[in-house]
Amino acid sequence: MSQRKVPPPAFWEIQRKQKVISALLFIVLFIFYFLSTGVISAAILFSADLFIPGFSFLAASFFKPYVVILISVSFILTLINFISARKKGSLYILKNLRACTPDPEDRYHLTFLNILEEMKISSGIPVIRGYIIPTVNLNSLSLIDRDGKPAIVITEGLLGEASRDELQAVVAHETAHILSDDTFLLTLVCSIASFYEKLIDSLEKERDLSEDMLKRPDKGTSPVQPLVYLAGIFSCAILKLFITFLSQKREMLADATAVELGRDPMALARIIYKAHLANSFLGESNLFTPLFLVPPDSREIKETIWDKLFNTHPPLTIRLKNLAAMAHRELKDVIDGVRKQEENREKLRLKYTPVDDLPTEYGEKLKKLQLQARVALEKDRVWFVRESGGAWNGPYLLGELITLPFFTPALRVKNLKENLEGPARSFPQVRFALYRQLKKQPIDPNLKNRCPFCLTDLDESFYEGVKIKKCSGCRGKLVSFNHLEKIFARKELSFSERLRQKALNYKEALLKTDLKIPVVKEKPPALCPECGLQFTLRPFNYFYLMPVYKCYNCQLIWFEDEELEILQLLVEEKIRSWYRQNPIE
Ligand SMILES: [Zn+2]
Ligand SMILES: [Zn+2]
Repeated sequence: MSQRKVPPPAFWEIQRKQKVISALLFIVLFIFYFLSTGVISAAILFSADLFIPGFSFLAASFFKPYVVILISVSFILTLINFISARKKGSLYILKNLRACTPDPEDRYHLTFLNILEEMKISSGIPVIRGYIIPTVNLNSLSLIDRDGKPAIVITEGLLGEASRDELQAVVAHETAHILSDDTFLLTLVCSIASFYEKLIDSLEKERDLSEDMLKRPDKGTSPVQPLVYLAGIFSCAILKLFITFLSQKREMLADATAVELGRDPMALARIIYKAHLANSFLGESNLFTPLFLVPPDSREIKETIWDKLFNTHPPLTIRLKNLAAMAHRELKDVIDGVRKQEENREKLRLKYTPVDDLPTEYGEKLKKLQLQARVALEKDRVWFVRESGGAWNGPYLLGELITLPFFTPALRVKNLKENLEGPARSFPQVRFALYRQLKKQPIDPNLKNRCPFCLTDLDESFYEGVKIKKCSGCRGKLVSFNHLEKIFARKELSFSERLRQKALNYKEALLKTDLKIPVVKEKPPALCPECGLQFTLRPFNYFYLMPVYKCYNCQLIWFEDEELEILQLLVEEKIRSWYRQNPIE
């Protein structure tokens, strides 16, 4: 049975009109593109005029055939470029935004996929694909994939922050763009604009390069480049104006259509408001801004005539007031709604208890466990390495030995247990380990999937909907590099006051130190439970310099108890500060 709601006729009327306008815009775009291709090739020929002696562009014998050739060449080029922009444009945009396909095993991603399914039924669009951008920033967009299928792209930040009805409203808004062909036109225009941007970029790079390489003042650059460059900049500017003209009215219309589809104007208003408050920045290029739910510079857009004319999106307050009016509400109801929701969410959070807050017996038991593990590992720490001076260095575990930066199979090593000495490759253990490393298997099968500090078997577990491995003994966590943004975007756990204070102290300590020197707490070496190679101890990232165990081989980070929680607290604190810095109105 179809669940399709029958919208009022006025709605279809607007849509039909939009389709006509879209078709007209498409033709205008084609003609413009055709002309600009002409301008660029004319620029090339005209400059030939300047530096080939005896050749004249304007000579009658040349001019006529030239025009014919120019028109046909431009036409063919336009066609080719349109087709390739259609095919490659979306791929370029998705790559630029680092978008990836949702993971059905992830609870949040699954909700998104389910909402897409529902939207397919209520909108009548047979396929709507979903993509996710791994960033804590809040935004969404729609585009037409390379095979012509529409797709909706949202950020982890939005997934983490939106309630189900808000997520539905966002999907409805993007579906509205797809229905009215905005998505088709905008993807095309943005792809073409990105072609010009790349052209300008490559010319700039070429110029820099030639300036660097030949610093001879007598040799000027050829006149072709500046002309093509100017033509490129001109085309790019015109396209940007075109995009602006195309996108602003349609943004309001998409809000209205989203309400037709989702019947919840307040939910849409709330999530737009949240995205406005948070950071909605996406990717380096500002070319794709018209595709976004909220422009990255949303907070700078005011209700002035200038901003109304020259921005891809209407000012926030106008958008919110319109949506609130649809629910017979006011702007302040939207703002109150967001605040109340945040308060409720705080109450619903699950409390995280670090080891230090557990009963003392637990800590005692853990200490014993860790000591046992150390003793067990110590027994295998039997490898020594001959230094260049002749002294023996060690002892190392096998995993530590072959991770040494200067390790080669020819390195002179000594095995203390067997009391043998020779090149590393003469030891069957080393050969076996190297073979297993090559086969992407753990170097020491005995240590596979066991905690590097207490040797407890690691459990598969979920942390805020993210699949991780966890040690039930010391509570260390093994997390994939790719999953960190998800954890930072989600707010299911709450942390004790003690932990909060610890995070704040940590941040203060960071501010006081010279940022170039990471705050290093002495940490012993440890082996990755996946591959068995030694972890590298590195600052978490450029902003949060906490040293953590990283395995670049498996793209994994080992967090000791409290570390991930402290990082999460700090990131959340930063997100909270965005909210505070941007008071409403
Ligand atoms: Zn452990
Ligand atoms: Zn590893």
